Formats: sequence, C-alpha cells, structure tokens
Amino acid sequence: SRVIEVNELTKRYGGKTAVKDLSFTVRPGHVTGFLGPNGAGKSTTLRLLLGLDAPTGGSVTIGGRPFRDRPRGLRHVGALLDAGDVHGGRRAVAHLYGLARGNRIPRARVDEVLRDVGLADAARRRIGGFSLGMRQRLGIATALLGDPPVLLFDEPLNGLDPEGVLWVRGLFRRLAAEGRTVFVSSHLMSEMENTADQLVVIGRGELIAAESLSDFAARG
Ligand code: ADP
Ligand code: ADP
Repeated sequence: SRVIEVNELTKRYGGKTAVKDLSFTVRPGHVTGFLGPNGAGKSTTLRLLLGLDAPTGGSVTIGGRPFRDRPRGLRHVGALLDAGDVHGGRRAVAHLYGLARGNRIPRARVDEVLRDVGLADAARRRIGGFSLGMRQRLGIATALLGDPPVLLFDEPLNGLDPEGVLWVRGLFRRLAAEGRTVFVSSHLMSEMENTADQLVVIGRGELIAAESLSDFAARG
C-alpha cells in the first residue's frame, strides 16, 4: 500500500520538543499539504518519515512497514528535503546520473526526468551555477527518478518563479491522479491553495488539523 501512517510521533532534541504526539494519515490519490509556520516541526517530521532520524517516541510507517524495514533506494519513496543540499551546477547533473547508476536506473530515465522538469538544456550545457529554482527542479527530478509511489517534498515551491509554481502544481496533480501519495510541506497557506486538496496542519510540533483544504478554509 501507499499510505503514510504517523502514530503518536514525538521527537526531542535535548530539552527541545520538535514534534509532540503527532498522529495523521496520508492517503494516495491526493496532494496533501503539510502546513505550519517556520519551526513547527515539518522538516523534522519529514526526516522521521524518511528514516533519516529516529523518533523519540511513536512510529511512522509507509506502506505498512516501519521505516527500518522500508525497502531502500529511490524506487519506493522519492523525496526533496532541501534544495540547498542539491549540489550546484554541472556536478548536480553528474550526481543525478551517478545516483541512477547506483540504483540500476537507466540513463534514458535520467534524460526523460530532466526533460520533464525543464532542465534538459541546462543539463546538456552543464555550465555555470544553478539558481534556487533550478536546484528545486533538480531536487524534484531526483525524487521522480525511481518512479516511486510515495513522494515527499519539503517546501518545493521555495525559489520558483511564477511559471515554475504553476508547473510544479500541475506535476503534483498528475502524480496524485496516477494514484501516488504526494506530501508537500509549506509555511504559507496561499501556496497550498490550488496545490493541495488535503491538509495536515501543525504548530509547535502538535497537530492542529487534518482535513480537506476546503473544510479548513471554511472554518474562518
Ligand atoms: P519546520 O520545518 O516546520 O520549520 P523544524 O522541524 O525544522 O521546523 O524544527 C522544529 C523545531 O525543532 C525548531 O524549534 C528547531 O529549532 C528544532 N530542531 C530541528 N532540528 C533540530 C536539531 N537537529 N537540533 C536541535 N533542534 C532542532
Ligand atoms: P547519495 O548518498 O547516493 O549521494 P543522497 O543521499 O544524496 O544519495 O540522496 C539524493 C536524494 O535521493 C535525496 O535528496 C533524496 O531525495 C533521495 N533519496 C536517497 N535515499 C533515499 C531513500 N532511502 N528514500 C527516499 N529518498 C531517498
């Protein structure tokens, strides 16, 4: 299955509680927005979802498996955690081909994904630095590489120009329409409008709401 289940998840860093007793479910076939102000615990939760960090309490499963048992590699879960981590310029494209080879993904798939995110020309030239928007596109390409059923994106709209925002929204809708699970964090409600149909809202590490965007918006 493609369902993400977060169950009484808690994460403390020393004396600081980043995430507290957080429970929610993310279903396939939707774009689910993960909304909360800066410092609310979104990145921490995404890192726990990916098994990049261990929870202090509670559990996370993706497709019914605890993250420790999760199949490794790019084919199960694709993620864009931080475009700042994407290596700059030509190295980034080389990294993408290397990542594909390491995961037994054909080069033609990399070419295809670079075309899909609008970076085919930039990749061919392999020159200069990449803007933040290009790094975002490249990070999204990385997440798409293995054609995974579950996709996690941390602030994917940051640094995109208006055309890029429209493109990413269209991409997320297509991925959801294909029956994938698409989970997208943001600190801006305005970004979630026209992007997500479901919302998980957190503040200070705790759940505030988990419902449709229209129900949340209608609360006033
Ligand atoms: P968001 O992604 O919503 O901005 P974060 O998950 O990055 O929130 O951070 C939640 C809280 O946890 C913040 O107060 C942050 O300072 C703290 N935090 C996150 N990571 C660490 C860490 N590695 N060590 C200490 N505190 C952390
Ligand atoms: P490498 O260590 O081979 O250089 P990275 O750790 O830099 O690969 O991963 C690059 C990107 O691939 C990450 O930003 C993330 O999007 C994705 N990724 C890597 N491993 C996983 C995984 N186990 N599950 C989901 N996504 C992953």
